[in-house]
Amino acid sequence: MKRRETDSKTDAGYTYADQPTTCPKCGNLTTFVGSFFQPATQWHTCLSRSCRYSFIQVADE
Ligand SMILES: [Zn+2]
Repeated sequence: MKRRETDSKTDAGYTYADQPTTCPKCGNLTTFVGSFFQPATQWHTCLSRSCRYSFIQVADE
């Protein structure tokens, strides 16, 4: 009897725990500022001095 294993990981989208968060505007690395009331919601700020873009990142479940 053959057993088929699902070795294909979720390739749709990305998991925010795997790779560093980057700025949606300039692509620079961001710094984690804090979490909001929802644990899956994180506040990030762009590390680029010329950008400083702040955004909310919601984990995709
Ligand atoms: Zn930026």
